[in-house]
Amino acid sequence: MSFQAPKGTFDWLPPRSERILAVREALAAPLREAGYGYIETPVFEDTQLFARGVGESTDIVSKEMYTFPDKAGRSLTLRPEGTASVVRAVLQHNLHAGQLPVKLWYSGSQFRYERAQKGRYRHFWQVGAEALGAEDPALDAELIVLGARGFTSLGLENVRLLLNSLGDKTCRPAYRAALQEFLRGLDLDADTKARIEINPLRVLDDKRPEVQAQLTGAPLVVDHLCAACKAYHEEVRFLLTASGIAFEDDPRLVRGLDYYTRTTFEFVHDGLGSQSAVGGGGRYDGLSEMLDGPPLPSVGWALGVDRTFLAMEAEGLLGDHAQARVQVYGVPLGDEARRRMFLILNDLRVAGVSADMAFGGKGLKGAMKGAGRSGAGFALILGERDLAAEVVQVKNLTTAEQTEVPLAQVVDVLKGKVQ
Ligand code: ATP
Ligand code: MG
Repeated sequence: MSFQAPKGTFDWLPPRSERILAVREALAAPLREAGYGYIETPVFEDTQLFARGVGESTDIVSKEMYTFPDKAGRSLTLRPEGTASVVRAVLQHNLHAGQLPVKLWYSGSQFRYERAQKGRYRHFWQVGAEALGAEDPALDAELIVLGARGFTSLGLENVRLLLNSLGDKTCRPAYRAALQEFLRGLDLDADTKARIEINPLRVLDDKRPEVQAQLTGAPLVVDHLCAACKAYHEEVRFLLTASGIAFEDDPRLVRGLDYYTRTTFEFVHDGLGSQSAVGGGGRYDGLSEMLDGPPLPSVGWALGVDRTFLAMEAEGLLGDHAQARVQVYGVPLGDEARRRMFLILNDLRVAGVSADMAFGGKGLKGAMKGAGRSGAGFALILGERDLAAEVVQVKNLTTAEQTEVPLAQVVDVLKGKVQ
């Protein structure tokens, strides 16, 4: 039996693979314009980094990580998300000793052992951004605006922004206690009851209808915000509104971990079924300390590139016309012609004209078929008689019109034609 890509993974093949590169680029472009620098971290890290930085009680750490011992017995884990690695790198290289906030963006593979289905993969791609070391509602708003701009730049019209505040260490404990009190009175299974004690906010996120039905009267964090958190949240909302970014207050949007504070948000798309989140993020003021660093109030997001692609498909933004691979296609007839064509192609490429040719000693018919499939606008047909006369036949593949061009001028002529 031949090999298949592992369950929950898939290959990106041409021409779709070109589109996914463009999507990654488009999601990252607004960050560059706002002074975020590119960071690349290893695809695997010390398992403890994620255990602490993502949190033992999360689904990611408790059941979704790809963890393995290396040959020296270290426990390593394929990264399931980017934030912990970025904070680790900032602390390791002392970036926070310079100007704050440290603004960074990344783009890369993430790995989670999830129940594989459409929009939920075991290997997927995120573009992410983190701004570390400043507590300022303008920074939260900036990141949200930049994320929203990435989606709109792709032509997406149906991405909605959900927004909430989770409070901070002043007001969250009282809210947590009130929520626990409420949850303890519900009819829940043993696992969920245990969760009430460790991570009660996560219960609000339970997707099961029988649980959701009981949560109608649950206390909401917005009603428990302290004055400082309320003012901060109002400022974020004001800046978003002033920027023309539509959002919906979602008082049930939560992130379970204690180091997530204040602003939290999610970008959702309704064309994706239950895998509706195309991105999410928020403030994580306590994470640096969790990783033995100094206090470093920070905010960030991660956008799901694969789901963004699916959202574009759902909005009919991808079309199905194959893009041209190259602009010019060489049809050499004979060994000497192939040698000459090889050199012409080099010159064309150096001059900025993309070019390919028929390989494998194809005859005229087979080579012209290749020219058609390449999407090229022009074919260069070079036979023995042409070579002797130092000319080449330039065929416009759209109009079928053919002209003879001296070999010495063919690069310039084509440069003019493909502009
Ligand atoms: P979900 O609730 O859908 O599981 P999440 O809260 O686990 O999402 P985050 O950890 O916030 O997601 O990751 C940010 C984004 O990465 C998500 O909004 C989504 O677009 C994307 N993403 C997360 N998990 C997957 C996955 N298994 N396959 C594809 N994309 C994913
Ligand atoms: Mg998840």
